[in-house]
Amino acid sequence: MNSQSTIRDPARRNGVPRDEAEDARRVQLIEVTIDSLAAVGFVGTTLAEIAGRAGVSPGLVAHYFGDKDGLLEAAFRALARVVAVRMRERFALARTPRARVQAIIDANLGPENFDRRIGNAWLAFWGQVLHFEGLKRVQRAYQVRMLSNLRSDLRRMIPAEAAHSLAAMIAAMIDGVWLRAALSEWQEADSESARALLTAFVDDRLLELARSSPGDAAAAAPGHVPRRAPAPEDSIRVINPATGAELAVLPVDGQARVNAAVERARAAQKVWRAMTGAERGRVLQRAARLLRERNDVLAELETRNTGKPIQETRAVDVISGAECIEYFAGLAAGLAGEHLDLGPKAFGYTRREPLGVVAGIGAWNYPLQIACWKSAPALACGNAMIFKPAELTPLTALKLSEIYREAGVPEGVFQVVQGYAPTGQLLTRHPCIRKISLTGEVSTGKAVMADAASTLKQVTLELGGKSPLIVFEDAQLDNAVSGALLGNFYSAGEVCSNGTRVFVHRSVRAELVERLRARTAAMRVGDPLDPDTQVGALISAEHMQKVLTLIARGRAQGARLVTGGARLTSGALGRGCFVAPTVFDACHDEMDIVRQEIFGPVMSVLEFDTEEEAVARANATEFGLAAGVFTNDLTRAHRVIAQLEAGTCWINHYNITPVELPFGGVKMSGLGRENGRAALEHYTQLKSVYVAMADIEAPY
Ligand code: NDP
Repeated sequence: MNSQSTIRDPARRNGVPRDEAEDARRVQLIEVTIDSLAAVGFVGTTLAEIAGRAGVSPGLVAHYFGDKDGLLEAAFRALARVVAVRMRERFALARTPRARVQAIIDANLGPENFDRRIGNAWLAFWGQVLHFEGLKRVQRAYQVRMLSNLRSDLRRMIPAEAAHSLAAMIAAMIDGVWLRAALSEWQEADSESARALLTAFVDDRLLELARSSPGDAAAAAPGHVPRRAPAPEDSIRVINPATGAELAVLPVDGQARVNAAVERARAAQKVWRAMTGAERGRVLQRAARLLRERNDVLAELETRNTGKPIQETRAVDVISGAECIEYFAGLAAGLAGEHLDLGPKAFGYTRREPLGVVAGIGAWNYPLQIACWKSAPALACGNAMIFKPAELTPLTALKLSEIYREAGVPEGVFQVVQGYAPTGQLLTRHPCIRKISLTGEVSTGKAVMADAASTLKQVTLELGGKSPLIVFEDAQLDNAVSGALLGNFYSAGEVCSNGTRVFVHRSVRAELVERLRARTAAMRVGDPLDPDTQVGALISAEHMQKVLTLIARGRAQGARLVTGGARLTSGALGRGCFVAPTVFDACHDEMDIVRQEIFGPVMSVLEFDTEEEAVARANATEFGLAAGVFTNDLTRAHRVIAQLEAGTCWINHYNITPVELPFGGVKMSGLGRENGRAALEHYTQLKSVYVAMADIEAPY
């Protein structure tokens, strides 16, 4: 008997509790029936066969199930129930309609079901459904449940008619993939490739539908999976992606609450801007101090909400936010315009003034840090900020808001609104908001910029990347490996600037890949709250599926898997979204894993021969966020960096972002800069003043 199976027979029949020993016996007989169906098929599965396999008398089998039909119906019901249970477990982790659709696909095609034994049993049943009323009833209930779940989730993303037909297509494909796999004796597909096929199909269909529905600028961008958010009156369920536990439920802010926040911000900003820079700086310094004092509590909250290891959030997320606030607090007093000598009869000066009310919209990978990176320069310059965190990670921005208040920031100067994209749009389209700073995907950046155009807002866009990390033959190899690991696996790879295309000179590639393999395979993936854990969970089941799909495509397109490459489900990891750190070697520039931002723990190693070739291939991408070069040849380092099309570069290091250095991208990776003095430009406007020192000479 297969001990992995989790078949359960109900503990009650006609409302009467059954004896535990009897239940155990029934479950055992059902398991044996599934074994028998897999081995000898429907015809060979008789009461005598089951009795023989279970080591009991045929009379005992008849006692529990009546006849063969009763036994088979119970076994079929048990199989269908396993799928339903898996579906419910996955629904608990799914936060969007698209994630729920994925949950249905995964529940049906997950590795726990999609194997020879269970599959052959299903096949045996399907062959008989038309002839046995009991089996027909089970099959109908199973189909109806799948279709109605699919339809209701799809209807939240696409029009009802399209949802209806796409649901039917998905259900047919799930059945088809099963059938083909079973008929090919499980040679044609495994669970991973079957799910990847369905995932790609659903994404492609949704993308096509989004393209054909006019006005959806974000969805029209290539590679964007349309995500139609629930209606504004819906709430946000905040989930711990490592366990599936619910952390909070928050209301979504709609038009009325956003308008009220803007009005409060307008009034508060007048008070805040009237303070001197030094006064504002002192208040911000207090906020930074409070952040540092509460580092551990905030880090734990961030870990629970993001799935990132506590060893990272304690050392980086809160502290880098505090450093940023300290830095801009220090600059606040020094904000100044300039004096311009215009000869003896006049002079001019410029005033550096705040913009007014500005908005920040954050991504989910560094929730608190992003809120600090946006609010610190905004507030230092005398603006008020309304911040919308990503709906997946809305908690620590609320804590930051409390800290600002406690530190003395006037009420209304920093406010948090919660919601999905439509709440973001209320900000981007609001006529009284003067600027939007977004961290998010390229497609979101385009949508935000288009919306901001209607009221001519300034925009800062920190968007995605597919950055190159180039290792020359003279590089210090252990440093290059450390850089590549930091640049791919920190925060489980959910870092925008990651150097996911690792170009390595042919002469050192084999050696570098071997060192990468050894150090990656030794990484500790596990409970994010365990201080020894180095790699935690991905942000959501939906995102994990995207990462796994790209890994499957990498394999299918011929990349050589060096290590990792799968979801981790052993023990408690099975409840969360864990993917093993993955290294692919022998990659080519055209592969999906080399072209698309994965935002997960997936590194692609590519080989090169010459410096010119490395630079050309590194630049052959629409993105331009970051780049890294490892070499001991100083001249070459600077020569190559000068040619790389990227906003943020490292020589002999990777992914280190001191607040003093401006951070941001070129090409499709964004506009504007965060951090450094450069950020001040984006949160202030210049007023030019001409001052006459003599009488006016007028010709009239
Ligand atoms: P998204 O672009 O999906 O979302 C970013 C934020 O924008 C969310 O708060 C989202 O709301 C909101 N939003 C979505 N659509 C709109 C819209 N039309 N109008 C206004 N607001 C909108 O990004 P993710 O949260 O998925 O973050 C991952 C992405 O962020 C990756 O591409 C990554 O590269 C990029 N990133 C870039 C960084 C950089 O500095 N360059 C740093 C970190 C991440 P909702 O709550 O509904 O999601």
